[in-house]
Amino acid sequence: MLIRLPLLLSLCIIPLATAGAQQSLDAMIETNLGSLVETYKMLHAAPELSHHEEKTSVFFAGQLRALGYTVTERVGKYETPEWTNYGVVAVMKNGPGPTVLLRTELDALPVDEMTGLAYASKVKTKNDAGLDVSVMHACGHDIHMTSMLGTARMLAALKAQWSGTLVLIGQPAEEVIDGARSMVRGGLYERFPRPDYVIALHDSADLEAGKVGYTPGYSMASSTSVDIKIRGLGGHGARPETTKDPIIVAAQVIMALQTIVSRENFPLDPAVVTVGSIHGGTKHNIIPNEVDLQLTVRAYKEEVRKRILASIERITKGIALAAGIPDDRAPIVKFSETQVTAATYNEPQLTEKLAAVFVKALGADNVVKLPPVMMSEDFGYLSLDQKIPATLFTLGAVDPLKVKQSKEGGAPLPSLHSALFAPVPEPTIRTGIKAMTSAVLELMKK
Ligand SMILES: [Zn+2]
Ligand SMILES: [Zn+2]
Repeated sequence: MLIRLPLLLSLCIIPLATAGAQQSLDAMIETNLGSLVETYKMLHAAPELSHHEEKTSVFFAGQLRALGYTVTERVGKYETPEWTNYGVVAVMKNGPGPTVLLRTELDALPVDEMTGLAYASKVKTKNDAGLDVSVMHACGHDIHMTSMLGTARMLAALKAQWSGTLVLIGQPAEEVIDGARSMVRGGLYERFPRPDYVIALHDSADLEAGKVGYTPGYSMASSTSVDIKIRGLGGHGARPETTKDPIIVAAQVIMALQTIVSRENFPLDPAVVTVGSIHGGTKHNIIPNEVDLQLTVRAYKEEVRKRILASIERITKGIALAAGIPDDRAPIVKFSETQVTAATYNEPQLTEKLAAVFVKALGADNVVKLPPVMMSEDFGYLSLDQKIPATLFTLGAVDPLKVKQSKEGGAPLPSLHSALFAPVPEPTIRTGIKAMTSAVLELMKK
């Protein structure tokens, strides 16, 4: 692997003593921004896939340790016991008061970077299936790590201004949505102080750098992967009367599944059923034995999710029955137990409170209320089914001029996960640190 992370380990941290704890937060951020942008570029050039964040986690842990945090590595437990969990937990106890947990992800994606940036990733590796893939921080988790390292520096230097316990976590495997759950399963809230608040940020490929967005209530959907195997009775393509054609059944199932959201679901409960993959057959004139479908289901409310899954099973099995497929060849419908994640619910009181803090720190023009989306992430697990107030805010990462041109009819901007996604480091990281630090100082003020 062409990972250049060892270089990072030699990166020294600019001591904050020179900046002076009394200096304003803005000035302290400016003093540190240059070195943090360098950190960002190095992290960007050395991405690691989900479940393989070894060097990234070592670097991240080392940086926090150097700042005086008590750091524990390899926190977490996957369902597959032979996988190592690279979760990092850093704790700073600073007197009585609330416990606030900040989360960043550590992992990157199998994307071949095409940004052309000087610090673009050239990393190639093998994925879990043994295939050669390129790796890129195409979701901006390197922005999140750098923002957290900057926030960690600020809060370590400003200890006189807050009281309580700060917990910073580096979470692996967000992109495959089993990282947050694995850290909770591995004792995150038993081995370390249980938080009163959980906060994270995620960069945005649509919002201008310098801005933050907030979404009170449900902001992202739950996600469930569903695998359907439709089994028929294969035979010659010219002798359909001797077969039970699973391709026809699959086609009917796909169309009928689209009536779940349109006809069975309450229209004001957002939901999506997408069939993202269909595979069956080998040749023009053979009716195959099987067809495989892969679906994703999105919803906010748990009862809606459960109803949709039940409908998928009922419709699929009903259509196969109607086609005359015998019971012992009935479709197999599997709801994934690993590729599933809860909805993200931004506790409204906490979210509004922090939005007011952001207005003070960044100016009213730079804080925007954003509508919810049906995309998913595993941050929701850290709230333990909404028992702990949690909020995930959005960090603008795009050149404002490009956003303007795109809105005025120009080319659409590259989305997250795109090989062309290139956040503007300086203003994005500056804003991330300012927002996150201000949020913690508010929740833990003396
Ligand atoms: Zn992502
Ligand atoms: Zn992400």
